[in-house]
Amino acid sequence: EQALRAYPGQIIVDLRTLKANMATLVKLVHSTNSGAAVMGVVKADAYGHGLIPAALAALAGGATWLGTAQSSEALRLRRAGIGPDRCRILSWMFNGDRAPFDQLIQADIDLGIGSLKTMDMAAQAADRAGRPARVHIKVDTGFGRNGFTPEAFGDALHELSRLAAKGLLEPVGLFSHLAVADMPGVDEFVSSTDEQIALFEEFSDKMTAAGMKPEIRHLANTAATLTRPGIRYDLTRPGIGLYGYEPDPSMGVSADYGLRPAMTLQAQLGTVKDMPSGHGISYGRTYLTEKPTSTAIMPLGYADGIHRSASGFDRQGATGREHRGGPVRLMTRQGPKLVRVAGRVCMDQCVLDLKGMASDLGVSEGDTVVLFGPGSGVDQAEPTADDWARAADTISYEIFTCLRSRIPRLYL
Ligand code: PLP
Repeated sequence: EQALRAYPGQIIVDLRTLKANMATLVKLVHSTNSGAAVMGVVKADAYGHGLIPAALAALAGGATWLGTAQSSEALRLRRAGIGPDRCRILSWMFNGDRAPFDQLIQADIDLGIGSLKTMDMAAQAADRAGRPARVHIKVDTGFGRNGFTPEAFGDALHELSRLAAKGLLEPVGLFSHLAVADMPGVDEFVSSTDEQIALFEEFSDKMTAAGMKPEIRHLANTAATLTRPGIRYDLTRPGIGLYGYEPDPSMGVSADYGLRPAMTLQAQLGTVKDMPSGHGISYGRTYLTEKPTSTAIMPLGYADGIHRSASGFDRQGATGREHRGGPVRLMTRQGPKLVRVAGRVCMDQCVLDLKGMASDLGVSEGDTVVLFGPGSGVDQAEPTADDWARAADTISYEIFTCLRSRIPRLYL
């Protein structure tokens, strides 16, 4: 309460929306694969929404798995009381000798294994623990990041079967990640996803032929969960959809499925003042006021995770370039109004050009403004994280995960 009142910006996460989004995804998956499970991907502090509250909301919405890349987050979930009776947890990113396999096995966490080194380390930890480690073999079907390539898979299966025979590893799953499933309208990408799927099936057949049929196969992220019903297999792994967004706004499908953004970022205005025409705004004078106007301080900056690339430039400014700054919704006497960041985003703040006089608009210091929320995009005056992503030349994922912990969070 106190932190909320003292800080001039807040992140509001609507856990009811998160829960509803997960319920929507589960229903969709079950409409084609009644036996398939859905994992809430809660890595990176649940895409900046808060690991534990978001995980609990995903479980309440029907997820039966949680997934994280970093093992420290998987362990935090268990330590928060989300036990093996509640859900299975998969963690899939391990860094050589630093991976805490002993703790992960004790905590009954499934391991995503994509290299011989981590396979052997997991087996050694299982030996110490006196119980087998459950592993999902990660294969590289074309993403070019983690996982065994087709060329390396023979050796991997050989090692896996040796360690499984010793009772150290229990091979339960096979998984891979898609590179371009978020572009369902682009033919070239559709065929490249088809190739990834075909290769995944080949990996699966080889594992089965080696006597280790993968019981849990998973390939679909949010994009594929929504648009590729044929590859929901036994488990799907939606992340961004849980938070109410789609990987690429050009997909234009998440709202059709009823997914709604769960996060709102708001702030209370600082100094509001009148400025003459032609006045430089912020570092570098990259923006000059076009005519007499009022400006307002928006008290969040790059130290809060507001991207400096969402600065606003205009042609009259020092760079001679035009770049639309991040959008912000104000409430005025005439109704909601969209304004933008003017000039460079600073460490703790930025400046908004109200494009009008504050006295006419009825805007004053202390007013609450919304940077993004569940709204319907800039057209309806409430921007979304996709609108900020566009202004900052990035993706919504980065907008959320960059928000710093100094901004207080409120959960609804
Ligand atoms: N599965 C894996 C292995 C991932 O790394 C990610 C996220 O990048 C996801 C699933 C979820 O992806 P998305 O948020 O696009 O649904």
